[in-house]
Amino acid sequence: MGKKDKGKESKQAKAAASVRDLLRVGPGFDLGAVDARRVVAGPGDKVMARAESLALEPEITALQERLYAESKGGGKRRLLLVLQGMDTSGKGGAAKAVDRVCEPIGLRMTSFGPPTQEELRHHYLWRINKALPPTGSIGIFDRSHYEDVLIVRVRNLVPEDVWSGRYDEINAWEKKLSDGGLVFLKCMLHISKAEQQERLLARLVEPDKQWKYNPGDVDERLLWDSYQAAYQAALTRCSTEYAPWYVIPADRKWHRDWLLTQLVAETLREMAPQYPPIDYDVEAEMARVRAS
Ligand code: AMP
Ligand code: MG
Repeated sequence: MGKKDKGKESKQAKAAASVRDLLRVGPGFDLGAVDARRVVAGPGDKVMARAESLALEPEITALQERLYAESKGGGKRRLLLVLQGMDTSGKGGAAKAVDRVCEPIGLRMTSFGPPTQEELRHHYLWRINKALPPTGSIGIFDRSHYEDVLIVRVRNLVPEDVWSGRYDEINAWEKKLSDGGLVFLKCMLHISKAEQQERLLARLVEPDKQWKYNPGDVDERLLWDSYQAAYQAALTRCSTEYAPWYVIPADRKWHRDWLLTQLVAETLREMAPQYPPIDYDVEAEMARVRAS
């Protein structure tokens, strides 16, 4: 693509009304066709993208406060950001980017690793249910119940007739929560295979990153195609009206963070949380305070 075409493309992308519309997984979605390096909207460079993300902070924290206030008045709504992606896709970094534009109070982050012995004795949604954010707050999941149709499927951790029933089960579970006021924002951070190799090497080369390197990641990397197929299935079978999936091109970290913060802002704006109605007479209370 020539420089001229690129300029045209990014202008068109900028005109798009909503990042959610750009990234939502809809009919005919093909993960293999998503270019992980592409800048799909917004600023084309790191400095501007970071500045724009940070500029959302006052608006997001104000909406967050309203959401909390709404719950104090009996509101049932809460927001759950689900982050999925291959190893090194930047789930931790993305969570930090969201954290930077949110009020720490009212934000709850949970990481899901291999289930413990106790967790294995329960249904796979047991530990997920326990970690849901309380009403009025925002939860971030670094991995989620989707691992139970991703690594579990790729590694045959349960028989096919068990994992294959989980897509419908997850949809039904998400529908019930959504009806109860939980708003899902499910994001897959999509990196290319070449980028993952670079990031793994970077972890080995830099002594202060070596702690992040996990030899097991290479074993999973060797199953790249199976993982992509498992993601394709999860994304298409579980992208619903009430809990859609969004795929974020994540080879460029600053763009990933920009897209994600826009998604959070758009979602909170649409939720439009409201302060609860005041159940006292303001004038009368003012008079009482003055006289006291
Ligand atoms: P990390 O996110 O790097 O700490 O790695 C966590 C690991 O736990 C990943 O390899 C996940 O695939 C794995 N994991 C998460 N949930 C499950 C699950 N339900 N069953 C098996 N492995 C899981
Ligand atoms: Mg890891």
